[in-house]
Amino acid sequence: MPIHRITWNEKHRFATVHNWGCTFKCPVCSYRLRSGANGPPGFSTPKPASFLSAEDVETTLRSLPIERVFFMGGEPTTARELPRLLDFAKNTLGLGTFLGHTNGWQLPLPNLDGANVGLKAWDPVVHLAYTGRDKSRIFDNFANSVRAGLKMRANVVFVPGWVDLDQVEAIASWIASLSVDIPFHIMGYIPVPGQPYPRPTEEQMARTVEACQRHLRKVGFSHLTSAQALDLTERDDRFASRQVAGGL
Ligand code: SF4
Repeated sequence: MPIHRITWNEKHRFATVHNWGCTFKCPVCSYRLRSGANGPPGFSTPKPASFLSAEDVETTLRSLPIERVFFMGGEPTTARELPRLLDFAKNTLGLGTFLGHTNGWQLPLPNLDGANVGLKAWDPVVHLAYTGRDKSRIFDNFANSVRAGLKMRANVVFVPGWVDLDQVEAIASWIASLSVDIPFHIMGYIPVPGQPYPRPTEEQMARTVEACQRHLRKVGFSHLTSAQALDLTERDDRFASRQVAGGL
């Protein structure tokens, strides 16, 4: 199983189950910031020395005083045991169940309460070049999850010169056609090794946020430097978790 680590946030009463691997091949993948990778595009962090079994995950979750569990990783739905773990978390432990980050490849899922989907691009040609995958499946999955009643959120990386203001705004407008109350987060691109795109300026960020606010009620943004992105614990105590099972 590609799950290799569990962390616990005592203050906010949640656990995060970390997966290794992804179904997309994004050249601007932020995991490459940590690994400093210059190789082929896509998720890139060193392979963990060991992995957890489904039983390990269940035992750890059972031992923690938590209300919610988040599944994350490159792409958490690459874990074949995910349906079993969602069932256990939801129906045995009574926890709220969320995909903390997902590319939307496999949604909706039984026993899942909600998901935060990274929508990559509006232009189908750019989407294919960015991810290696067709856009329609992802957007259809997102819409079907909203219709199924999941608590959905979306985010997009604003990459000047590639996924520009027009594409970010088009995504916001499309989300608004589902519900204007879906939270939407715009992340300013953090330059990844070997890629030509710049970090957005303050003015570019402000214009993009303003454009999206014309469509949606809940628009947030982040405009981090590489150093800030590599240590989020000082900016938000939801990232101040400690490891309770597995390894890096
Ligand atoms: S979907 Fe996310 S984790 Fe996967 S390669 Fe793209 S940016 Fe990286």
